[in-house]
Amino acid sequence: MSIANDISQLHAGMRQWRQHLHQFPETAFEEMETAKFIADKLMSFGLEVHQGLGKTGVVATLSAGNSNKKIALRADMDALFIKEQNTFVYKSSHHGKMHACGHDGHSAMLLGAAKYLSDNRNFKGTVYFIFQPAEEGRAGARQMIDDGLFKQFPADCVFGMHNFPDIPPGHFAVKSGAMMASFDCFEITITGQATHAAMPHLGNDAIVAAAQLINSLQTIVSRMIDPADPAVVSITQIHAGNTWNAIPESVLLRGTFRCFNNVVQKTIADKITQLANAVCEGFGVNATILFNPENAGYPVTFNSETETALARKAAIAVAGDACVNQQPAPSMGSEDFAFMLQEKPGCYIWIGNGSSENNCLLHNPHYDFNDDILPVGAAYWVKLVETVLSE
Ligand SMILES: [Zn+2]
Ligand SMILES: [Zn+2]
Repeated sequence: MSIANDISQLHAGMRQWRQHLHQFPETAFEEMETAKFIADKLMSFGLEVHQGLGKTGVVATLSAGNSNKKIALRADMDALFIKEQNTFVYKSSHHGKMHACGHDGHSAMLLGAAKYLSDNRNFKGTVYFIFQPAEEGRAGARQMIDDGLFKQFPADCVFGMHNFPDIPPGHFAVKSGAMMASFDCFEITITGQATHAAMPHLGNDAIVAAAQLINSLQTIVSRMIDPADPAVVSITQIHAGNTWNAIPESVLLRGTFRCFNNVVQKTIADKITQLANAVCEGFGVNATILFNPENAGYPVTFNSETETALARKAAIAVAGDACVNQQPAPSMGSEDFAFMLQEKPGCYIWIGNGSSENNCLLHNPHYDFNDDILPVGAAYWVKLVETVLSE
């Protein structure tokens, strides 16, 4: 492990910031106090700070030398609607909300890097520090982009980092291509004609149509997508009927699909629409299909070659060759950093959080970011900036 002395000296500060953020979690687009805390810190480090993109987003700018190169580093600030089960002193003070995905740690590591880079300025070019809202299901990254993020802060490339509990503490995992899956939800309302259960021929049975449709949807992955392209389609809700002896007028189906290829993502959506319409037509019932009615669909998180090579170089410089997994299996989870990677080449890396006392995964009510890795993550950001903006 190679971490500059000055970064190690920031460890206590970063731990304090991280635990403060953990204690006062805020959810999507309501990160007012979080944004203020972060902006105040950045200003105290001497950075130029902009607020308000994506409602609560914070962007800080730091330049050194006279190069035109520009790199963007991104952390997320939002918490989840989960009731914390931890009992330590800095446990959530906001009922029903908690940092169960480690975004408190992401913000603290990027703050640490900003402090170090501002003090040392061992690079030539401009660094944009992006603190985004609403990563969890509400596409805060896309909101910042729609509000002009990359027009106001025209980065050449953008980098993200997420803690991962399955990876040993302070290790990294990164590869080019797909790191995380796309994410979409869908809702199908099947409307038939209600009738007495003893006289089905006098109505149009939406339940039987729904049963056929559920089975048909399972053929999308097995029959219509290249077996070499991983994908999953799951029906997660069925709502219909309220008594024993009547066939209801309608059935509501809900589900989700995920894959690692944006073309496959579109194919799955098209096939859901086609099958729902065709199956329902065959049964004389009607289908209404909505995609992502309550959430934002996320594209595939796709790392570009060149930027992944730079990220790998920085990770190896910090953690050593043996502690950087260069061929991790991609995760079926999803990440709205994918929107930034659609705009700019870049790379999303995982940093190991190690296994916790309860061995819990992200989004678990016992989750806690591992403060021991704060200097490792900050050192990665610093090394990345010094590598990308080296001349
Ligand atoms: Zn999460
Ligand atoms: Zn997360």
